Amino acid sequence: MDIYSSLMDIVGKDRVSKDQEELFLYSRDSGAQRPGKVDFVVMPKTVEEVQKIVLLANKEKVPVTPLGGGLALSALVVPQRGGIVLDMKSMDKIIEVNETNRYAVVEAGVSQAALQSYLTKNHPRLQHSTPEAPPTATVVANALIQGHGHISPRYGINSDMIAGMEVVLPTGEICKIGSCSVSPYWFARGPLPDLPGLFIGWFGTTGIVTKLSIKLYPKPKFRDVMAFVSDDVDSITEAIFEANHLDLLEDFFLISQEKPEWMNHIFYIIIVSGHSEEEFELKKRAYKKLFREFRGGGTIEFVKDLHPALRKRFLDVPPLAALAADFRKGGGFEYTGAILPIDKVSQAWEKGFEISRKYGMICSYVHQVLMGNSIMFGFNYSFNRADEEDIEKTRKALDESNRFTYEVGGVVWKGEAGAQKLAMEKMDPNTAELIKRVKNLLDPNGIMNPGNWEPVT
Ligand SMILES: Cc1cc2nc3c(=O)[nH]c(=O)nc-3n(C[C@H](O)[C@H](O)[C@H](O)COP(=O)(O)OP(=O)(O)OC[C@H]3O[C@@H](n4cnc5c(N)ncnc54)[C@H](O)[C@@H]3O)c2cc1C
Repeated sequence: MDIYSSLMDIVGKDRVSKDQEELFLYSRDSGAQRPGKVDFVVMPKTVEEVQKIVLLANKEKVPVTPLGGGLALSALVVPQRGGIVLDMKSMDKIIEVNETNRYAVVEAGVSQAALQSYLTKNHPRLQHSTPEAPPTATVVANALIQGHGHISPRYGINSDMIAGMEVVLPTGEICKIGSCSVSPYWFARGPLPDLPGLFIGWFGTTGIVTKLSIKLYPKPKFRDVMAFVSDDVDSITEAIFEANHLDLLEDFFLISQEKPEWMNHIFYIIIVSGHSEEEFELKKRAYKKLFREFRGGGTIEFVKDLHPALRKRFLDVPPLAALAADFRKGGGFEYTGAILPIDKVSQAWEKGFEISRKYGMICSYVHQVLMGNSIMFGFNYSFNRADEEDIEKTRKALDESNRFTYEVGGVVWKGEAGAQKLAMEKMDPNTAELIKRVKNLLDPNGIMNPGNWEPVT
Protein backbone atom coordinates (compact mmCIF):
# COMPACT_ATOMS: atom_id res chain seq x y z
CA MET A 1 0.00 0.00 0.00
CA ASP A 2 2.87 2.38 0.86
CA ILE A 3 4.51 1.89 -2.50
CA TYR A 4 1.18 2.37 -4.25
CA SER A 5 0.57 5.66 -2.36
CA SER A 6 4.10 6.84 -3.09
CA LEU A 7 3.61 6.10 -6.81
CA MET A 8 0.32 8.05 -6.72
CA ASP A 9 2.16 10.95 -5.11
CA ILE A 10 4.65 10.92 -7.98
CA VAL A 11 2.40 10.55 -11.05
CA GLY A 12 -1.14 11.20 -9.76
CA LYS A 13 -3.85 8.58 -9.33
CA ASP A 14 -4.77 8.28 -13.03
CA ARG A 15 -1.37 7.06 -14.14
CA VAL A 16 -0.79 4.27 -11.65
CA SER A 17 -2.78 1.07 -11.33
CA LYS A 18 -2.95 -2.12 -9.32
CA ASP A 19 -6.30 -3.20 -10.73
CA GLN A 20 -6.34 -6.91 -11.46
CA GLU A 21 -7.64 -6.48 -15.02
CA GLU A 22 -4.78 -4.16 -15.93
CA LEU A 23 -2.15 -6.23 -14.13
CA PHE A 24 -3.40 -9.27 -16.06
CA LEU A 25 -2.73 -7.52 -19.39
CA TYR A 26 0.74 -6.38 -18.35
CA SER A 27 1.69 -9.81 -17.01
CA ARG A 28 2.01 -11.37 -20.49
CA ASP A 29 2.85 -10.59 -24.10
CA SER A 30 1.68 -12.13 -27.36
CA GLY A 31 4.60 -14.56 -27.63
CA ALA A 32 4.76 -18.13 -26.36
CA GLN A 33 6.56 -17.51 -23.05
CA ARG A 34 4.89 -17.99 -19.67
CA PRO A 35 3.13 -15.05 -17.96
CA GLY A 36 4.74 -13.25 -15.03
CA LYS A 37 3.47 -11.28 -12.06
CA VAL A 38 3.01 -7.50 -11.92
CA ASP A 39 2.29 -5.51 -8.76
CA PHE A 40 1.92 -1.98 -10.19
CA VAL A 41 1.76 -0.33 -13.59
CA VAL A 42 2.93 3.28 -13.82
CA MET A 43 2.88 5.67 -16.78
CA PRO A 44 5.34 8.54 -16.20
CA LYS A 45 5.15 11.69 -18.30
CA THR A 46 8.47 13.36 -17.48
CA VAL A 47 12.06 12.38 -16.79
CA GLU A 48 11.71 13.77 -13.25
CA GLU A 49 8.81 11.37 -12.62
CA VAL A 50 10.91 8.47 -13.93
CA GLN A 51 13.70 9.55 -11.62
CA LYS A 52 11.42 9.66 -8.56
CA ILE A 53 9.95 6.22 -9.37
CA VAL A 54 13.42 4.73 -9.75
CA LEU A 55 14.64 6.31 -6.50
CA LEU A 56 11.62 4.83 -4.71
CA ALA A 57 12.12 1.40 -6.29
CA ASN A 58 15.82 1.42 -5.48
CA LYS A 59 15.18 2.36 -1.85
CA GLU A 60 12.46 -0.27 -1.44
CA LYS A 61 14.28 -2.82 -3.66
CA VAL A 62 11.25 -3.26 -5.93
CA PRO A 63 11.89 -4.56 -9.48
CA VAL A 64 11.24 -2.18 -12.39
CA THR A 65 10.54 -3.38 -15.93
CA PRO A 66 10.51 -0.69 -18.65
CA LEU A 67 7.98 -1.21 -21.42
CA GLY A 68 7.62 0.43 -24.84
CA GLY A 69 5.15 -1.18 -27.23
CA GLY A 70 5.55 -4.58 -25.53
CA LEU A 71 6.02 -6.19 -28.94
CA ALA A 72 9.40 -7.87 -28.65
CA LEU A 73 7.42 -11.14 -28.25
CA SER A 74 10.03 -12.90 -26.12
CA ALA A 75 8.67 -11.81 -22.71
CA LEU A 76 11.34 -9.15 -22.28
CA VAL A 77 8.70 -6.88 -20.74
CA VAL A 78 7.06 -9.61 -18.66
CA PRO A 79 8.35 -9.15 -15.09
CA GLN A 80 9.94 -12.31 -13.80
CA ARG A 81 10.11 -11.15 -10.17
CA GLY A 82 7.01 -8.93 -9.90
CA GLY A 83 7.26 -5.21 -9.10
CA ILE A 84 6.57 -2.17 -11.27
CA VAL A 85 5.99 -2.13 -15.02
CA LEU A 86 7.06 1.30 -16.21
CA ASP A 87 4.94 1.90 -19.30
CA MET A 88 6.70 4.67 -21.26
CA LYS A 89 3.89 5.40 -23.76
CA SER A 90 2.91 8.74 -22.18
CA MET A 91 6.37 10.14 -22.87
CA ASP A 92 5.44 10.63 -26.48
CA LYS A 93 7.01 13.91 -27.60
CA ILE A 94 9.06 14.31 -30.74
CA ILE A 95 11.38 16.90 -29.26
CA GLU A 96 13.42 17.94 -32.26
CA VAL A 97 14.02 17.08 -35.87
CA ASN A 98 17.26 18.58 -37.06
CA GLU A 99 16.90 18.43 -40.83
CA THR A 100 20.35 19.68 -41.80
CA ASN A 101 22.19 17.49 -39.32
CA ARG A 102 19.81 14.59 -39.98
CA TYR A 103 18.68 13.37 -36.59
CA ALA A 104 15.50 13.27 -34.51
CA VAL A 105 15.33 13.44 -30.72
CA VAL A 106 12.34 11.51 -29.38
CA GLU A 107 10.97 10.54 -25.99
CA ALA A 108 10.82 6.88 -25.04
CA GLY A 109 7.14 6.39 -25.86
CA VAL A 110 7.19 7.73 -29.43
CA SER A 111 5.90 4.99 -31.72
CA GLN A 112 7.27 4.05 -35.13
CA ALA A 113 4.05 5.27 -36.74
CA ALA A 114 4.17 8.65 -34.93
CA LEU A 115 7.71 9.42 -36.07
CA GLN A 116 7.05 8.17 -39.58
CA SER A 117 3.94 10.31 -40.05
CA TYR A 118 5.58 13.35 -38.45
CA LEU A 119 8.50 13.10 -40.89
CA THR A 120 6.22 12.52 -43.89
CA LYS A 121 4.27 15.66 -43.01
CA ASN A 122 7.07 17.98 -41.91
CA HIS A 123 10.30 16.63 -43.37
CA PRO A 124 9.32 14.67 -46.48
CA ARG A 125 12.90 14.36 -47.71
CA LEU A 126 13.94 12.39 -44.62
CA GLN A 127 13.11 8.96 -43.21
CA HIS A 128 14.04 6.76 -40.26
CA SER A 129 14.69 3.04 -40.41
CA THR A 130 11.27 1.48 -39.77
CA PRO A 131 10.95 -2.14 -38.56
CA GLU A 132 8.36 -4.49 -39.92
CA ALA A 133 6.89 -4.63 -36.40
CA PRO A 134 3.36 -3.36 -35.67
CA PRO A 135 3.26 0.48 -35.79
CA THR A 136 2.86 0.88 -32.02
CA ALA A 137 6.39 -0.45 -31.44
CA THR A 138 8.53 2.35 -30.02
CA VAL A 139 11.51 3.91 -31.78
CA VAL A 140 13.56 3.83 -28.57
CA ALA A 141 13.01 0.21 -27.50
CA ASN A 142 13.51 -1.01 -31.06
CA ALA A 143 16.87 0.72 -31.32
CA LEU A 144 17.86 -0.46 -27.81
CA ILE A 145 17.17 -4.11 -28.65
CA GLN A 146 19.29 -3.85 -31.81
CA GLY A 147 16.29 -4.05 -34.14
CA HIS A 148 16.43 -3.54 -37.88
CA GLY A 149 14.30 -1.59 -40.32
CA HIS A 150 13.56 -1.12 -43.99
CA ILE A 151 16.88 0.60 -44.77
CA SER A 152 19.08 -1.56 -42.51
CA PRO A 153 20.63 -3.54 -45.39
CA ARG A 154 21.91 -0.19 -46.68
CA TYR A 155 22.78 1.72 -43.50
CA GLY A 156 23.11 -0.78 -40.63
CA ILE A 157 20.96 -2.01 -37.78
CA ASN A 158 18.88 0.49 -35.84
CA SER A 159 21.16 0.56 -32.78
CA ASP A 160 23.98 1.72 -35.09
CA MET A 161 21.78 4.75 -35.81
CA ILE A 162 21.66 5.92 -32.19
CA ALA A 163 23.36 9.30 -31.93
CA GLY A 164 22.83 10.01 -28.22
CA MET A 165 20.52 9.45 -25.29
CA GLU A 166 19.26 10.62 -21.91
CA VAL A 167 19.13 7.84 -19.30
CA VAL A 168 17.88 7.51 -15.77
CA LEU A 169 20.34 5.23 -14.01
CA PRO A 170 19.01 2.57 -11.60
CA THR A 171 20.36 4.71 -8.75
CA GLY A 172 18.39 7.74 -9.97
CA GLU A 173 20.97 9.99 -11.69
CA ILE A 174 19.88 11.54 -14.99
CA CYS A 175 22.71 11.17 -17.46
CA LYS A 176 23.25 12.49 -21.00
CA ILE A 177 25.30 10.37 -23.36
CA GLY A 178 26.99 11.27 -26.64
CA SER A 179 27.57 14.73 -28.14
CA CYS A 180 24.51 16.02 -26.19
CA SER A 181 26.57 15.70 -23.00
CA VAL A 182 28.89 18.48 -24.19
CA SER A 183 26.86 20.29 -26.85
CA PRO A 184 23.32 21.39 -27.66
CA TYR A 185 23.50 19.10 -30.71
CA TRP A 186 22.48 15.44 -30.45
CA PHE A 187 24.27 14.56 -33.67
CA ALA A 188 26.82 11.88 -32.66
CA ARG A 189 27.99 9.37 -30.06
CA GLY A 190 31.55 10.61 -30.19
CA PRO A 191 34.39 11.21 -30.42
CA LEU A 192 33.96 10.37 -26.73
CA PRO A 193 34.07 7.12 -24.74
CA ASP A 194 31.24 5.14 -26.38
CA LEU A 195 28.83 4.83 -23.45
CA PRO A 196 25.57 4.05 -25.35
CA GLY A 197 26.71 0.42 -25.33
CA LEU A 198 25.96 0.33 -21.59
CA PHE A 199 22.26 0.48 -22.49
CA ILE A 200 22.02 -1.17 -25.93
CA GLY A 201 21.21 -4.89 -25.94
CA TRP A 202 20.72 -4.98 -22.15
CA PHE A 203 16.88 -5.27 -22.18
CA GLY A 204 16.38 -2.45 -19.69
CA THR A 205 18.60 -4.07 -17.04
CA THR A 206 21.00 -1.12 -16.76
CA GLY A 207 18.77 1.96 -16.89
CA ILE A 208 15.77 3.67 -18.44
CA VAL A 209 16.32 5.62 -21.61
CA THR A 210 14.02 8.62 -21.56
CA LYS A 211 15.18 10.41 -24.74
CA LEU A 212 17.07 9.15 -27.75
CA SER A 213 18.56 10.72 -30.82
CA ILE A 214 18.15 8.61 -33.94
CA LYS A 215 19.80 9.30 -37.28
CA LEU A 216 17.67 10.17 -40.29
CA TYR A 217 18.40 9.29 -43.90
CA PRO A 218 17.52 10.69 -47.32
CA LYS A 219 14.21 9.49 -48.73
CA PRO A 220 14.67 8.76 -52.43
CA LYS A 221 12.02 9.84 -54.89
CA PHE A 222 11.84 6.54 -56.78
CA ARG A 223 11.40 3.12 -55.22
CA ASP A 224 10.52 -0.27 -56.64
CA VAL A 225 10.57 -3.93 -55.72
CA MET A 226 12.23 -6.66 -57.72
CA ALA A 227 11.42 -10.29 -56.97
CA PHE A 228 13.55 -13.24 -58.05
CA VAL A 229 12.67 -16.88 -57.50
CA SER A 230 14.67 -20.07 -57.16
CA ASP A 231 14.44 -23.59 -55.74
CA ASP A 232 18.10 -24.11 -55.12
CA VAL A 233 18.80 -23.97 -51.38
CA ASP A 234 22.52 -24.63 -51.86
CA SER A 235 23.06 -21.45 -53.83
CA ILE A 236 21.44 -19.09 -51.28
CA THR A 237 24.73 -18.07 -49.70
CA GLU A 238 26.35 -17.16 -52.99
CA ALA A 239 23.24 -15.36 -54.25
CA ILE A 240 23.13 -13.22 -51.09
CA PHE A 241 26.84 -12.51 -51.36
CA GLU A 242 26.59 -11.38 -54.99
CA ALA A 243 23.47 -9.25 -54.46
CA ASN A 244 25.17 -7.51 -51.54
CA HIS A 245 28.38 -7.11 -53.40
CA LEU A 246 26.69 -5.17 -56.17
CA ASP A 247 26.00 -2.66 -53.40
CA LEU A 248 23.05 -0.89 -55.00
CA LEU A 249 20.10 -2.03 -52.92
CA GLU A 250 18.02 -0.36 -50.20
CA ASP A 251 16.33 -3.39 -48.65
CA PHE A 252 16.87 -7.10 -49.18
CA PHE A 253 14.92 -9.99 -47.73
CA LEU A 254 14.23 -13.62 -48.48
CA ILE A 255 10.79 -15.13 -48.03
CA SER A 256 9.27 -18.55 -48.37
CA GLN A 257 6.17 -20.32 -47.11
CA GLU A 258 5.07 -23.93 -47.45
CA LYS A 259 1.52 -22.77 -48.14
CA PRO A 260 0.03 -21.57 -50.46
CA GLU A 261 1.81 -23.76 -53.00
CA TRP A 262 2.99 -20.85 -55.18
CA MET A 263 4.97 -19.44 -52.27
CA ASN A 264 6.85 -22.67 -51.65
CA HIS A 265 10.03 -21.40 -53.33
CA ILE A 266 12.90 -19.16 -52.35
CA PHE A 267 11.99 -15.56 -53.15
CA TYR A 268 14.72 -12.93 -53.16
CA ILE A 269 13.07 -9.55 -52.65
CA ILE A 270 15.20 -6.56 -53.48
CA ILE A 271 14.08 -2.96 -53.03
CA VAL A 272 15.90 -0.47 -55.19
CA SER A 273 15.57 3.27 -54.95
CA GLY A 274 17.00 6.36 -56.59
CA HIS A 275 16.94 10.12 -56.47
CA SER A 276 16.78 10.35 -60.26
CA GLU A 277 15.19 8.12 -62.89
CA GLU A 278 18.60 7.36 -64.44
CA GLU A 279 20.06 6.15 -61.14
CA PHE A 280 16.96 4.09 -60.43
CA GLU A 281 16.81 2.43 -63.86
CA LEU A 282 20.52 1.63 -63.75
CA LYS A 283 20.11 -0.18 -60.43
CA LYS A 284 17.18 -2.23 -61.69
CA ARG A 285 19.08 -3.24 -64.83
CA ALA A 286 22.11 -4.20 -62.75
CA TYR A 287 20.11 -6.60 -60.53
CA LYS A 288 18.36 -8.21 -63.48
CA LYS A 289 21.71 -8.78 -65.17
CA LEU A 290 23.28 -10.11 -61.98
CA PHE A 291 20.69 -12.85 -61.52
CA ARG A 292 20.34 -13.59 -65.27
CA GLU A 293 24.04 -14.37 -65.33
CA PHE A 294 24.15 -16.02 -61.89
CA ARG A 295 25.98 -19.35 -62.08
CA GLY A 296 25.77 -20.48 -58.47
CA GLY A 297 24.20 -23.88 -59.15
CA GLY A 298 20.49 -23.48 -59.84
CA THR A 299 18.84 -20.69 -61.80
CA ILE A 300 17.32 -17.59 -60.25
CA GLU A 301 14.48 -16.19 -62.34
CA PHE A 302 13.14 -12.63 -62.39
CA VAL A 303 9.42 -12.59 -61.47
CA LYS A 304 7.94 -10.50 -64.30
CA ASP A 305 4.33 -10.52 -63.16
CA LEU A 306 4.52 -9.86 -59.44
CA HIS A 307 0.92 -9.48 -58.25
CA PRO A 308 0.04 -5.80 -57.58
CA ALA A 309 -1.13 -6.64 -54.06
CA LEU A 310 2.22 -8.22 -53.25
CA ARG A 311 4.11 -5.38 -54.91
CA LYS A 312 2.28 -3.00 -52.61
CA ARG A 313 2.94 -5.13 -49.51
CA PHE A 314 6.66 -5.23 -50.26
CA LEU A 315 6.89 -1.53 -51.00
CA ASP A 316 4.92 -0.37 -47.98
CA VAL A 317 6.94 1.00 -45.09
CA PRO A 318 6.83 -1.06 -42.94
CA PRO A 319 6.72 -3.82 -45.55
CA LEU A 320 4.98 -7.16 -45.58
CA ALA A 321 4.07 -7.36 -41.86
CA ALA A 322 4.91 -11.05 -41.52
CA LEU A 323 2.18 -12.47 -43.70
CA ALA A 324 2.41 -15.80 -41.96
CA ALA A 325 2.18 -14.46 -38.43
CA ASP A 326 -1.32 -15.88 -37.90
CA PHE A 327 -1.17 -19.14 -39.83
CA ARG A 328 -2.82 -21.04 -37.00
CA LYS A 329 -5.64 -18.53 -36.62
CA GLY A 330 -5.07 -18.36 -32.90
CA GLY A 331 -3.32 -15.02 -32.61
CA GLY A 332 0.00 -16.36 -31.32
CA PHE A 333 3.35 -15.68 -32.99
CA GLU A 334 6.96 -15.82 -31.91
CA TYR A 335 10.22 -16.30 -33.75
CA THR A 336 13.81 -17.02 -33.05
CA GLY A 337 15.63 -14.10 -34.61
CA ALA A 338 18.85 -15.88 -35.45
CA ILE A 339 21.56 -13.45 -36.45
CA LEU A 340 23.62 -15.76 -38.64
CA PRO A 341 26.75 -15.45 -40.71
CA ILE A 342 25.71 -15.51 -44.38
CA ASP A 343 27.49 -18.82 -45.02
CA LYS A 344 25.14 -20.68 -42.64
CA VAL A 345 21.90 -19.69 -44.34
CA SER A 346 21.44 -22.80 -46.51
CA GLN A 347 22.01 -25.06 -43.49
CA ALA A 348 19.56 -23.04 -41.39
CA TRP A 349 16.98 -23.20 -44.20
CA GLU A 350 16.95 -27.02 -44.04
CA LYS A 351 16.90 -26.94 -40.23
CA GLY A 352 13.83 -24.69 -40.11
CA PHE A 353 11.89 -27.17 -42.23
CA GLU A 354 13.05 -30.05 -40.04
CA ILE A 355 11.92 -28.31 -36.82
CA SER A 356 8.57 -27.23 -38.30
CA ARG A 357 7.83 -30.79 -39.50
CA LYS A 358 8.79 -32.28 -36.15
CA TYR A 359 6.21 -30.10 -34.37
CA GLY A 360 3.52 -30.28 -37.06
CA MET A 361 3.86 -26.63 -38.06
CA ILE A 362 3.84 -24.85 -41.40
CA CYS A 363 7.28 -23.54 -42.24
CA SER A 364 7.43 -19.86 -43.11
CA TYR A 365 10.43 -17.66 -43.55
CA VAL A 366 11.23 -13.96 -43.64
CA HIS A 367 14.90 -13.12 -43.41
CA GLN A 368 16.43 -9.70 -43.73
CA VAL A 369 19.97 -9.42 -44.97
CA LEU A 370 21.89 -6.96 -42.80
CA MET A 371 24.66 -4.96 -44.46
CA GLY A 372 26.33 -7.95 -46.08
CA ASN A 373 27.87 -9.50 -42.96
CA SER A 374 24.91 -11.25 -41.45
CA ILE A 375 21.26 -12.09 -41.82
CA MET A 376 18.33 -11.93 -39.43
CA PHE A 377 17.08 -15.44 -40.03
CA GLY A 378 13.58 -15.73 -38.61
CA PHE A 379 12.52 -19.21 -37.49
CA ASN A 380 8.82 -18.25 -37.41
CA TYR A 381 6.22 -20.14 -35.41
CA SER A 382 2.55 -19.26 -35.17
CA PHE A 383 0.30 -20.92 -32.61
CA ASN A 384 -3.15 -20.90 -31.14
CA ARG A 385 -3.09 -18.91 -27.92
CA ALA A 386 -6.03 -20.87 -26.56
CA ASP A 387 -4.27 -24.21 -26.99
CA GLU A 388 -1.71 -24.95 -24.26
CA GLU A 389 -0.32 -27.94 -26.15
CA ASP A 390 0.28 -25.78 -29.21
CA ILE A 391 2.07 -23.17 -27.08
CA GLU A 392 4.28 -25.83 -25.48
CA LYS A 393 5.23 -27.15 -28.94
CA THR A 394 6.16 -23.61 -29.96
CA ARG A 395 8.41 -23.21 -26.91
CA LYS A 396 10.19 -26.43 -27.85
CA ALA A 397 10.56 -25.34 -31.48
CA LEU A 398 11.99 -22.00 -30.33
CA ASP A 399 14.41 -23.71 -27.97
CA GLU A 400 15.66 -26.01 -30.76
CA SER A 401 16.06 -23.03 -33.08
CA ASN A 402 18.02 -21.15 -30.40
CA ARG A 403 20.33 -24.11 -29.79
CA PHE A 404 20.91 -24.57 -33.51
CA THR A 405 21.72 -20.87 -33.84
CA TYR A 406 24.50 -21.09 -31.26
CA GLU A 407 25.75 -24.44 -32.63
CA VAL A 408 26.41 -22.92 -36.05
CA GLY A 409 28.08 -19.79 -34.68
CA GLY A 410 25.13 -17.38 -34.72
CA VAL A 411 23.66 -15.22 -31.95
CA VAL A 412 19.99 -15.14 -30.93
CA TRP A 413 18.52 -11.64 -31.23
CA LYS A 414 16.18 -10.36 -28.45
CA GLY A 415 16.05 -13.88 -27.03
CA GLU A 416 13.78 -14.94 -24.20
CA ALA A 417 15.35 -15.82 -20.81
CA GLY A 418 16.18 -19.38 -22.01
CA ALA A 419 18.02 -18.06 -25.06
CA GLN A 420 19.92 -15.54 -22.91
CA LYS A 421 20.98 -18.42 -20.65
CA LEU A 422 22.32 -20.34 -23.67
CA ALA A 423 24.35 -17.26 -24.63
CA MET A 424 25.73 -16.84 -21.11
CA GLU A 425 26.70 -20.54 -20.95
CA LYS A 426 28.54 -20.32 -24.23
CA MET A 427 30.16 -16.97 -23.57
CA ASP A 428 33.84 -16.41 -22.83
CA PRO A 429 33.91 -16.50 -18.97
CA ASN A 430 35.77 -13.19 -18.74
CA THR A 431 33.11 -11.53 -20.86
CA ALA A 432 30.38 -12.98 -18.65
CA GLU A 433 32.25 -11.65 -15.61
CA LEU A 434 32.55 -8.21 -17.24
CA ILE A 435 28.78 -8.16 -17.86
CA LYS A 436 28.21 -9.03 -14.21
CA ARG A 437 30.55 -6.26 -13.02
CA VAL A 438 28.97 -3.62 -15.27
CA LYS A 439 25.51 -4.66 -14.13
CA ASN A 440 26.46 -4.58 -10.43
CA LEU A 441 28.11 -1.20 -10.84
CA LEU A 442 25.08 0.39 -12.49
CA ASP A 443 22.36 -1.47 -10.62
CA PRO A 444 23.75 -2.45 -7.20
CA ASN A 445 20.35 -3.56 -5.87
CA GLY A 446 19.45 -5.59 -8.96
CA ILE A 447 16.12 -3.82 -9.45
CA MET A 448 16.16 -3.44 -13.24
CA ASN A 449 14.24 -6.11 -15.20
CA PRO A 450 15.67 -8.96 -13.10
CA GLY A 451 15.81 -12.39 -14.71
CA ASN A 452 17.42 -11.00 -17.87
CA TRP A 453 21.13 -11.39 -18.68
CA GLU A 454 21.73 -13.04 -15.33
CA PRO A 455 25.06 -14.82 -14.91
CA VAL A 456 24.89 -18.61 -15.00
CA THR A 457 26.06 -20.04 -11.69
C1 LIG B 1 4.81 -9.17 -36.76
C2 LIG B 1 6.08 -8.65 -36.16
C3 LIG B 1 7.12 -8.24 -37.01
C4 LIG B 1 8.31 -7.74 -36.45
N1 LIG B 1 9.28 -7.30 -37.30
C5 LIG B 1 10.38 -6.68 -36.80
C6 LIG B 1 11.35 -6.10 -37.66
O1 LIG B 1 11.25 -6.13 -38.87
N2 LIG B 1 12.43 -5.51 -37.10
C7 LIG B 1 12.58 -5.43 -35.75
O2 LIG B 1 13.56 -4.84 -35.31
N3 LIG B 1 11.68 -5.98 -34.91
C8 LIG B 1 10.60 -6.60 -35.39
N4 LIG B 1 9.68 -7.14 -34.53
C9 LIG B 1 10.01 -7.25 -33.09
C10 LIG B 1 9.54 -6.11 -32.18
O3 LIG B 1 8.18 -5.88 -32.33
C11 LIG B 1 10.26 -4.80 -32.44
O4 LIG B 1 11.65 -4.95 -32.35
C12 LIG B 1 9.78 -3.64 -31.57
O5 LIG B 1 10.33 -2.48 -32.11
C13 LIG B 1 10.14 -3.68 -30.15
O6 LIG B 1 9.79 -2.41 -29.63
P1 LIG B 1 8.78 -2.29 -28.43
O7 LIG B 1 8.50 -0.86 -28.18
O8 LIG B 1 7.59 -3.17 -28.62
O9 LIG B 1 9.72 -2.89 -27.27
P2 LIG B 1 9.31 -3.60 -25.92
O10 LIG B 1 8.92 -5.02 -26.21
O11 LIG B 1 8.36 -2.79 -25.15
O12 LIG B 1 10.72 -3.60 -25.15
C14 LIG B 1 11.83 -4.31 -25.60
C15 LIG B 1 12.93 -4.30 -24.52
O13 LIG B 1 13.39 -2.97 -24.31
C16 LIG B 1 13.24 -2.58 -22.94
N5 LIG B 1 12.83 -1.19 -22.93
C17 LIG B 1 11.70 -0.65 -23.43
N6 LIG B 1 11.71 0.68 -23.31
C18 LIG B 1 12.87 1.00 -22.70
C19 LIG B 1 13.46 2.22 -22.27
N7 LIG B 1 12.85 3.37 -22.45
N8 LIG B 1 14.66 2.17 -21.65
C20 LIG B 1 15.31 1.00 -21.45
N9 LIG B 1 14.79 -0.18 -21.83
C21 LIG B 1 13.60 -0.19 -22.46
C22 LIG B 1 12.18 -3.52 -22.37
O14 LIG B 1 12.31 -3.72 -21.00
C23 LIG B 1 12.48 -4.79 -23.15
O15 LIG B 1 13.53 -5.48 -22.55
C24 LIG B 1 8.48 -7.67 -35.04
C25 LIG B 1 7.43 -8.08 -34.21
C26 LIG B 1 6.24 -8.54 -34.75
C27 LIG B 1 5.13 -8.91 -33.82
